[in-house]
Amino acid sequence: MRSHDVIVVGGGVVGCSVAFALARMGASVLVIERDRIGVHASRAAAGMLAPIAESLGEGPAFPMGLESLDLFPALVDEIRELSGIDPRYTKSGLLRVAEANEADALRERAVILEAHGCEWLDGDDLRKREPRLAPQVVGALWSPREGHVDAFLLTRAYAGAAARRGAQLRLGTTVSGLLWEGEGVRGVRTSAGEFYAGDVVLCSGAWTGLVEDGARLSLPVEPVKGQMIALEGPAPNLQCIVWGRSCYLVPRDSSVRVGATEERAGFDVRTTAAGISELLSGATRLMPGFGECAFQEAWAGLRPGTPDQLPLIGPVPGAPGLTVATGHYRNGVLLSALTGLAVADWILAAKLPPELRACDPARFQRPPA
Ligand SMILES: Cc1cc2nc3c(=O)[nH]c(=O)nc-3n(C[C@H](O)[C@H](O)[C@H](O)COP(=O)(O)OP(=O)(O)OC[C@H]3O[C@@H](n4cnc5c(N)ncnc54)[C@H](O)[C@@H]3O)c2cc1C
Repeated sequence: MRSHDVIVVGGGVVGCSVAFALARMGASVLVIERDRIGVHASRAAAGMLAPIAESLGEGPAFPMGLESLDLFPALVDEIRELSGIDPRYTKSGLLRVAEANEADALRERAVILEAHGCEWLDGDDLRKREPRLAPQVVGALWSPREGHVDAFLLTRAYAGAAARRGAQLRLGTTVSGLLWEGEGVRGVRTSAGEFYAGDVVLCSGAWTGLVEDGARLSLPVEPVKGQMIALEGPAPNLQCIVWGRSCYLVPRDSSVRVGATEERAGFDVRTTAAGISELLSGATRLMPGFGECAFQEAWAGLRPGTPDQLPLIGPVPGAPGLTVATGHYRNGVLLSALTGLAVADWILAAKLPPELRACDPARFQRPPA
């Protein structure tokens, strides 16, 4: 029995983007989510779309991130129209600020990144853009192409748009293992019975290694905890993202999100005194005025990390019918747009974009015993 073209395991930002891209191209899709849409890493995220600040133009994540960033304006219009949910995409620009000992290196990167609209700001030019920066901030790389979304609303918009294109969403259902037929994967075993499909896509985030066969398939994904806080914004609020040595500040409405810690703490999502204190001192070091702003809330989420900090996107060797899209670590919101398209192209047309070569899951396969 084959009831769907594709089963997507996981309803986070990655699974919902994959489901939307597949449904948009005419596939019948079933998303199976253990909990509710977008309530794990994808709700915890700061929502930055910041490939330049993240990599400073270096490494294989940079071209992927830029390509994904460029997809956002049209994609957001489309999913807003289909779902009625506005992900609040804002091309705010980003100041990656430097204290004296970082300034030379960042100034050099600003020159190298000029083709992406970046420039080095210091003195009055910098203070004009953000007069409340601490005196020890001597300059900044200004990156106008970057911005942010509300990651939870983005996830729900992808899911709503996928549903409008015919995808089914099955919530509160846990996938406990894969169904094999010979050498190939033909479906999933769940808390609500068995479901069959031509293809299964694992988008189960930090929990990917826990899906029954995850360990056997050598998909080395581990949870990397991130704590964040929200503070009341200064008046007027920040106009752009401010990214410093020990934290970043992302404006949203009248508040500012301050992130984020990076901790290996298993599946623990408690917020801690040490985590909150690290973020508070990071924020006040960048902008001392935050000392007067009200504390609003704190939360934590689990990034899906991999040993080389690059995602796993593509077919799983030795398991025909099984594709994986996970391990997006600090950039799952940013990379969701490109990942959705890439997985749909792989499943429906057996093509993967060349810039995703570094994300081939085969790089972690153990040699046969
Ligand atoms: C504090 C913090 C700040 C961040 N900031 C940014 C940022 O600014 N920009 C950016 O691009 N990224 C950011 N990230 C990273 C981003 O949040 C993640 O990379 C992204 O959300 C991963 O999406 P996902 O869909 O893979 O995982 P998740 O959102 O965790 O979704 C996985 C889903 O799979 C489900 N699932 C797991 N196992 C099963 C199972 N067996 N059966 C059924 N369902 C299952 C889970 O319930 C979950 O809903 C941040 C992360 C954190 C924690």
